[in-house]
Amino acid sequence: MEPVLINSPSLANCNLLELGDNVDELVRAGVRFLHIDLMDGHYVPNLCFPIRVLSDIKEKYPDIITDVHLMAIPPEDYVQRLADAGADYLSFHIDSTRFTIRTFNAIKNAGMKGGVVINPSQGTDSLLPFIDLVDMVTVMAVEPGFAGQRFMERTVPRILDVARMRKQKGLDFLINVDGAINYPNVIPCVHNGANVFVTGIYTVFKQPDGITSACRRFEDELRKGEALGFDPDAY
Ligand code: ZN
Repeated sequence: MEPVLINSPSLANCNLLELGDNVDELVRAGVRFLHIDLMDGHYVPNLCFPIRVLSDIKEKYPDIITDVHLMAIPPEDYVQRLADAGADYLSFHIDSTRFTIRTFNAIKNAGMKGGVVINPSQGTDSLLPFIDLVDMVTVMAVEPGFAGQRFMERTVPRILDVARMRKQKGLDFLINVDGAINYPNVIPCVHNGANVFVTGIYTVFKQPDGITSACRRFEDELRKGEALGFDPDAY
Protein backbone atom coordinates (compact mmCIF):
# COMPACT_ATOMS: atom_id res chain seq x y z
CA MET A 1 0.00 0.00 0.00
CA GLU A 2 0.98 3.63 -0.45
CA PRO A 3 2.51 5.18 2.64
CA VAL A 4 -0.27 7.12 4.32
CA LEU A 5 0.46 9.17 7.43
CA ILE A 6 -2.38 11.09 9.00
CA ASN A 7 -2.71 13.41 11.98
CA SER A 8 -6.09 12.72 13.61
CA PRO A 9 -6.48 15.12 16.57
CA SER A 10 -8.72 13.89 19.37
CA LEU A 11 -11.39 16.43 20.24
CA ALA A 12 -11.61 15.08 23.79
CA ASN A 13 -8.38 17.01 24.39
CA CYS A 14 -9.90 20.39 23.49
CA ASN A 15 -10.87 22.95 26.05
CA LEU A 16 -14.59 22.27 25.69
CA LEU A 17 -15.43 25.94 26.13
CA GLU A 18 -13.36 26.56 23.00
CA LEU A 19 -14.41 23.49 21.01
CA GLY A 20 -15.68 25.41 17.97
CA ASP A 21 -12.63 27.66 17.85
CA ASN A 22 -10.31 24.65 18.25
CA VAL A 23 -12.00 22.73 15.41
CA ASP A 24 -11.85 25.82 13.22
CA GLU A 25 -8.15 26.21 13.88
CA LEU A 26 -7.47 22.51 13.22
CA VAL A 27 -9.28 22.69 9.88
CA ARG A 28 -7.44 25.86 8.90
CA ALA A 29 -4.17 24.18 9.89
CA GLY A 30 -4.87 21.54 7.23
CA VAL A 31 -6.13 18.69 9.42
CA ARG A 32 -8.24 16.26 7.35
CA PHE A 33 -9.21 13.73 10.06
CA LEU A 34 -10.86 14.47 13.41
CA HIS A 35 -10.88 11.74 16.06
CA ILE A 36 -14.09 11.78 18.08
CA ASP A 37 -14.24 9.67 21.25
CA LEU A 38 -17.72 8.63 22.31
CA MET A 39 -17.95 7.08 25.79
CA ASP A 40 -21.08 5.72 27.47
CA GLY A 41 -19.93 5.32 31.09
CA HIS A 42 -20.29 1.52 30.83
CA TYR A 43 -17.59 0.26 28.48
CA VAL A 44 -15.24 2.81 30.04
CA PRO A 45 -15.76 4.58 33.37
CA ASN A 46 -16.09 7.99 31.76
CA LEU A 47 -18.49 9.98 29.57
CA CYS A 48 -17.62 11.87 26.41
CA PHE A 49 -19.57 13.73 23.71
CA PRO A 50 -23.13 13.34 22.47
CA ILE A 51 -23.68 11.99 18.93
CA ARG A 52 -24.80 15.46 17.85
CA VAL A 53 -21.22 16.74 17.96
CA LEU A 54 -20.73 14.79 14.72
CA SER A 55 -23.61 16.32 12.79
CA ASP A 56 -22.64 19.79 13.98
CA ILE A 57 -19.08 19.28 12.73
CA LYS A 58 -20.20 17.79 9.42
CA GLU A 59 -22.64 20.61 8.81
CA LYS A 60 -19.89 23.19 9.13
CA TYR A 61 -17.00 21.16 7.64
CA PRO A 62 -18.48 18.61 5.21
CA ASP A 63 -15.06 17.62 3.84
CA ILE A 64 -13.57 16.66 7.21
CA ILE A 65 -13.22 12.91 7.73
CA THR A 66 -14.73 11.94 11.07
CA ASP A 67 -12.82 9.12 12.77
CA VAL A 68 -15.27 7.96 15.43
CA HIS A 69 -13.96 5.84 18.32
CA LEU A 70 -16.97 4.27 19.98
CA MET A 71 -16.54 3.13 23.57
CA ALA A 72 -20.11 2.03 24.25
CA ILE A 73 -22.01 -1.18 24.94
CA PRO A 74 -23.35 -2.60 22.73
CA PRO A 75 -21.83 -0.76 19.77
CA GLU A 76 -24.43 -2.13 17.33
CA ASP A 77 -27.10 0.03 18.99
CA TYR A 78 -25.38 3.19 17.75
CA VAL A 79 -24.40 2.24 14.20
CA GLN A 80 -27.30 3.75 12.25
CA ARG A 81 -27.46 6.93 14.33
CA LEU A 82 -23.74 7.49 13.87
CA ALA A 83 -24.07 6.95 10.13
CA ASP A 84 -26.95 9.44 10.02
CA ALA A 85 -24.89 11.94 12.02
CA GLY A 86 -22.01 11.78 9.52
CA ALA A 87 -19.44 9.29 10.83
CA ASP A 88 -16.96 8.34 8.09
CA TYR A 89 -14.92 5.79 10.03
CA LEU A 90 -16.58 3.97 12.90
CA SER A 91 -14.33 1.90 15.15
CA PHE A 92 -15.50 -0.21 18.09
CA HIS A 93 -13.75 -2.38 20.67
CA ILE A 94 -13.72 -6.09 19.90
CA ASP A 95 -14.74 -6.91 23.48
CA SER A 96 -17.66 -4.45 23.54
CA THR A 97 -19.93 -6.85 21.63
CA ARG A 98 -20.55 -10.58 21.37
CA PHE A 99 -21.14 -10.07 17.64
CA THR A 100 -18.07 -8.47 16.16
CA ILE A 101 -18.68 -9.56 12.56
CA ARG A 102 -22.37 -8.65 12.66
CA THR A 103 -21.51 -5.22 14.02
CA PHE A 104 -18.85 -4.79 11.42
CA ASN A 105 -21.26 -5.72 8.62
CA ALA A 106 -23.85 -3.28 9.99
CA ILE A 107 -21.25 -0.49 9.83
CA LYS A 108 -20.40 -1.33 6.21
CA ASN A 109 -24.06 -1.65 5.24
CA ALA A 110 -24.71 1.80 6.73
CA GLY A 111 -22.10 3.18 4.33
CA MET A 112 -19.24 3.80 6.76
CA LYS A 113 -15.69 2.51 6.89
CA GLY A 114 -15.39 0.00 9.70
CA GLY A 115 -12.68 -0.32 12.29
CA VAL A 116 -11.87 -2.45 15.30
CA VAL A 117 -9.95 -1.45 18.40
CA ILE A 118 -7.74 -3.59 20.64
CA ASN A 119 -6.75 -2.64 24.16
CA PRO A 120 -3.20 -3.11 25.52
CA SER A 121 -4.33 -6.31 27.28
CA GLN A 122 -5.63 -7.96 24.10
CA GLY A 123 -3.42 -10.05 21.82
CA THR A 124 -3.05 -8.92 18.23
CA ASP A 125 -4.02 -12.45 17.12
CA SER A 126 -7.53 -11.72 18.40
CA LEU A 127 -7.91 -9.69 15.17
CA LEU A 128 -7.36 -12.70 12.93
CA PRO A 129 -10.99 -13.91 12.54
CA PHE A 130 -12.08 -10.66 10.85
CA ILE A 131 -8.88 -8.92 9.76
CA ASP A 132 -9.87 -9.29 6.10
CA LEU A 133 -13.03 -7.22 6.70
CA VAL A 134 -11.62 -4.12 8.35
CA ASP A 135 -10.77 -0.70 6.95
CA MET A 136 -8.88 0.31 10.08
CA VAL A 137 -7.29 -1.36 13.10
CA THR A 138 -6.73 0.83 16.15
CA VAL A 139 -4.00 -0.27 18.53
CA MET A 140 -4.56 1.41 21.89
CA ALA A 141 -1.37 2.71 23.49
CA VAL A 142 -3.18 3.28 26.82
CA GLU A 143 -6.19 1.69 28.46
CA PRO A 144 -9.15 3.58 26.99
CA GLY A 145 -11.24 6.15 28.81
CA PHE A 146 -9.01 9.02 29.91
CA ALA A 147 -6.65 11.59 28.44
CA GLY A 148 -3.32 12.39 30.06
CA GLN A 149 -1.95 8.84 30.50
CA ARG A 150 1.49 7.60 29.43
CA PHE A 151 2.21 5.91 26.11
CA MET A 152 2.94 2.19 26.67
CA GLU A 153 6.17 1.32 24.88
CA ARG A 154 4.91 -2.22 24.24
CA THR A 155 2.56 -0.69 21.68
CA VAL A 156 5.30 -0.37 19.05
CA PRO A 157 5.92 -4.14 18.55
CA ARG A 158 2.14 -4.66 18.59
CA ILE A 159 1.82 -2.24 15.67
CA LEU A 160 4.48 -4.27 13.87
CA ASP A 161 2.50 -7.49 14.50
CA VAL A 162 -0.57 -5.93 12.89
CA ALA A 163 1.48 -4.50 10.01
CA ARG A 164 2.95 -7.94 9.35
CA MET A 165 -0.53 -9.44 9.34
CA ARG A 166 -1.59 -6.79 6.82
CA LYS A 167 1.42 -7.49 4.62
CA GLN A 168 1.14 -11.29 4.80
CA LYS A 169 -2.53 -11.24 3.84
CA GLY A 170 -2.14 -8.60 1.15
CA LEU A 171 -4.59 -6.23 2.87
CA ASP A 172 -4.57 -2.44 2.91
CA PHE A 173 -6.38 -1.35 6.08
CA LEU A 174 -5.06 1.64 8.02
CA ILE A 175 -3.30 1.13 11.34
CA ASN A 176 -4.32 3.75 13.86
CA VAL A 177 -2.42 4.34 17.10
CA ASP A 178 -4.47 5.94 19.87
CA GLY A 179 -3.34 7.12 23.29
CA ALA A 180 -0.76 9.54 24.69
CA ILE A 181 1.22 9.90 21.46
CA ASN A 182 4.32 11.96 22.17
CA TYR A 183 7.32 12.93 20.07
CA PRO A 184 9.72 10.12 21.05
CA ASN A 185 7.16 7.56 19.84
CA VAL A 186 6.08 9.00 16.49
CA ILE A 187 8.97 7.79 14.34
CA PRO A 188 9.09 4.28 15.88
CA CYS A 189 5.34 3.96 15.21
CA VAL A 190 5.81 5.10 11.59
CA HIS A 191 8.68 2.65 11.08
CA ASN A 192 6.57 -0.20 12.36
CA GLY A 193 3.63 0.49 10.10
CA ALA A 194 1.23 2.96 11.78
CA ASN A 195 -0.71 5.29 9.47
CA VAL A 196 -3.09 7.32 11.61
CA PHE A 197 -1.93 9.12 14.77
CA VAL A 198 -4.52 10.19 17.31
CA THR A 199 -2.94 13.32 18.68
CA GLY A 200 -3.66 14.99 22.01
CA ILE A 201 -2.11 17.07 24.74
CA TYR A 202 1.52 16.07 24.09
CA THR A 203 1.51 17.13 20.46
CA VAL A 204 -1.39 19.27 19.22
CA PHE A 205 -3.38 20.68 22.15
CA LYS A 206 -2.18 22.76 25.10
CA GLN A 207 1.02 23.68 23.25
CA PRO A 208 2.46 27.12 24.08
CA ASP A 209 2.67 28.13 20.41
CA GLY A 210 -0.93 27.17 19.63
CA ILE A 211 -2.70 24.56 17.50
CA THR A 212 -1.66 25.74 14.04
CA SER A 213 2.03 25.69 14.75
CA ALA A 214 1.74 22.42 16.73
CA CYS A 215 -0.02 20.73 13.78
CA ARG A 216 2.73 21.91 11.44
CA ARG A 217 5.40 20.55 13.78
CA PHE A 218 3.62 17.20 14.02
CA GLU A 219 3.30 16.95 10.21
CA ASP A 220 7.04 17.64 9.95
CA GLU A 221 7.69 14.76 12.35
CA LEU A 222 5.51 12.42 10.28
CA ARG A 223 7.38 13.41 7.11
CA LYS A 224 10.68 12.86 8.91
CA GLY A 225 9.54 9.38 9.90
CA GLU A 226 8.47 8.68 6.34
CA ALA A 227 11.81 9.85 4.95
CA LEU A 228 13.70 7.71 7.46
CA GLY A 229 12.16 4.55 6.14
CA PHE A 230 8.47 3.90 6.12
CA ASP A 231 8.69 0.85 3.98
CA PRO A 232 5.84 -1.64 4.12
CA ASP A 233 7.94 -4.05 2.06
CA ALA A 234 10.44 -4.29 4.89
CA TYR A 235 8.25 -6.53 7.00
ZN1 ZN B 1 -9.83 7.45 20.82
